[in-house]
Amino acid sequence: MSDEKFELPFNSPVSPLRLEAGDKLQFRCHRGVSCWNECCSHADVTLAPYDIIRLKQAIGLSTRDFLKKHTVPFELDASGMPGIKLRTENSGACLFMTDDGCSVYENRPTACRYYPSGLLSMRTIGKNTDERHFLLIREDHCKGHLEDQVQTVQAFREDQGVVEYDDYNREWYVILLKKRSSGPAIGKPSNLSLQLFFMASYDMDRFRRFVTSDSFRKTYELSDEFYETVETDDVALMQFGFKLMRQVLYGEIEIPEVEGAWQKRAEERKEILKMRREIEAIEHEKSREAEISAALGGDPDEPT
Ligand code: SF4
Ligand code: SF4
Repeated sequence: MSDEKFELPFNSPVSPLRLEAGDKLQFRCHRGVSCWNECCSHADVTLAPYDIIRLKQAIGLSTRDFLKKHTVPFELDASGMPGIKLRTENSGACLFMTDDGCSVYENRPTACRYYPSGLLSMRTIGKNTDERHFLLIREDHCKGHLEDQVQTVQAFREDQGVVEYDDYNREWYVILLKKRSSGPAIGKPSNLSLQLFFMASYDMDRFRRFVTSDSFRKTYELSDEFYETVETDDVALMQFGFKLMRQVLYGEIEIPEVEGAWQKRAEERKEILKMRREIEAIEHEKSREAEISAALGGDPDEPT
């Protein structure tokens, strides 16, 4: 266990300790603890893409309805990368909390599985990979630290079913870390990049419509098999989204583009803009004529 202090990616009233996978953790949470539900009564749960897939499938909602009903937006960093948190009651209690505990326990988000520990992904400048460490937060209200169960952090992760969540979300954390560690070198993402990040990270159903649209098919060279898979497989779609985000945000080209497609789209856009301007000019001319005719006391619709 290290005494090293570091900056956390979320607000916490206490300083956490850094842990490694083999470090020992004394902790147990169960229905009999005196603080039962205390943590969920003041929930501050940031969601990652795989959390949303599991929750929306479990509740049986579209991602749009899930986002509307169960989440609130916030900014993940100073460059405005969009994040979402679980919505709570005004009191701070999680909407999924019941007297018997978590009503979505089998599909609870990563942050809930980890508590009172957490994942600390770090990226060393000059390296392309992330380093995984863990952290421990000791909050006074949590009496699970007084229980006598001791296990390694790795055993705790396996016990809580968090390994699968970390594996699925890992590429997404790397995208965020890369944004953070590159700072102003990469600059503030455009509004379109931020919209893509939001859609591919959180609004999977809308992202599916985007990826299977005619204009997307004309822009990227992807197989029929790919389209069949992403029609029904949320995880495959999420993983494709990570690739597309890297391509759009960092220029890491992995998805082959149809030759000349961007140029063709730019020309089509120019053509549409030109047509719009011509229509606006005609409408402006018509309303000018109507004004003049009205000023002269005539009926603007009467042929002259
Ligand atoms: S999702 Fe479940 S475990 Fe997480 S804060 Fe809500 S009630 Fe608690
Ligand atoms: S022991 Fe900790 S994690 Fe378990 S209910 Fe109490 S506050 Fe929550």
